[in-house]
Amino acid sequence: MHKVLIIGAGGVGGVVAHKCAMAPQVFGDIVLASRTQSRCDAIAAQIAELHGRTITTARVDADDVAQTAALIRKLQPSLVVNVALPYQDLPLMDACLDAGVDYLDTANYEPPDVAKFEYKWQWAYRERFEKAGLMALLGSGFDPGVTNVFCAYARDHLFDTIETIDIVDCNAGSHGHPFATNFNPEINIREVTARGKYWEKGEWKEIDPMSISEVIDYPGVGPKKSYLIYHEELESLVQHIPGLQRIRFWMTFGDEYLTHLRVLQNVGMTRIDPVEFQGQKIVPIQFLKALLPDPASLAQNYTGKTSIGCIIEGKKDGKARKVFIYNVCDHHECWKEVRAQAVSYTTGVPAAVGAEMMVTGTWKRAGVWHMEQMDSVPFLERLGASGLPWHVQEM
Ligand code: NDP
Repeated sequence: MHKVLIIGAGGVGGVVAHKCAMAPQVFGDIVLASRTQSRCDAIAAQIAELHGRTITTARVDADDVAQTAALIRKLQPSLVVNVALPYQDLPLMDACLDAGVDYLDTANYEPPDVAKFEYKWQWAYRERFEKAGLMALLGSGFDPGVTNVFCAYARDHLFDTIETIDIVDCNAGSHGHPFATNFNPEINIREVTARGKYWEKGEWKEIDPMSISEVIDYPGVGPKKSYLIYHEELESLVQHIPGLQRIRFWMTFGDEYLTHLRVLQNVGMTRIDPVEFQGQKIVPIQFLKALLPDPASLAQNYTGKTSIGCIIEGKKDGKARKVFIYNVCDHHECWKEVRAQAVSYTTGVPAAVGAEMMVTGTWKRAGVWHMEQMDSVPFLERLGASGLPWHVQEM
């Protein structure tokens, strides 16, 4: 039985804590730490009520490496699960190296002052993790995360060669607000307002934001207009799927969401640079975040489903093959089980399963690794059993 330290008590952190508590045979001891301890305490109370387990809570500023390393030394966990924000990735990797413990996250590092989604900052830690004999597992959410594992499963078990991959992400749920984001508003808006990008025949192609769309038929949900955007898993997958000729990422957005976003962009509310306001500097997107609903608060009245997966084409035994590997998740079922909506749930469950792979030694390698570099089968077995059943549909 293992001790895990979860850092970040938002929508995703809550799901990871619940799911670890629901696996007492693996996680004997759970600590949830975050910047605001009262949020950890509220999650601990839900866990006691729903699953009859006691977890410990703590306060930590994860930007402060010395403070986090001291907490890790005091607690001696087997693993740190980072479900705070992407800005905390590097300080938390430093703290893990300092205190000698393995690391897992769900989103790649972004510098606060530039909206850039690149792995280069975290790949620069490879040698230090290798030398320390420690493992860092990057992107163990749904996308990145499960989508990477679906691609690895297709590469290793369904195809001789993979030619194209389209990762498709649909949230067909309804939360009843005119405008809200399903995970941290600042990170979400930075992602969807960035220029689109995909990879074809060995090079990256850039497009204006939301300038390419297609209608995709999502299992469990039906046809939905989907937009080509850049997403971080493309950067690692092009390196780890041999023979790949094209990879793209698609996400659905409702008209209401896009109209609000366009207005907010036009008036400058999505800017990430500081502006002068009444004698002090404020960052408009951070102010906007303070006004928008907290993503975790959307959960109680959320209805509908998410449908996320990979459409993969290639060859098997000399014949053309096309498959859709996917999961469908129901917002209200997530609320009943762990008091979360499906976007937090589909991220938190794979983080807890990735944590299980690491603490049990099923996945254990020194260095910095992506999900598609690991054996997909044990992860997918546990994923289905942990609430995210997945399916392979021949097309
Ligand atoms: P939230 O904003 O709901 O929660 C973030 C939590 O991190 C909050 O509790 C916040 O504290 C805490 N936090 C922020 N800064 C610090 C700090 N310096 N020290 C300690 N704690 C801190 O975000 P989500 O739960 O929606 O998202 C969590 C992560 O999951 C993000 O990195 C997001 O990008 C990622 N994600 C990944 C997905 C995937 O599929 N791979 C999909 C969705 C999200 P406070 O309460 O004080 O604000």
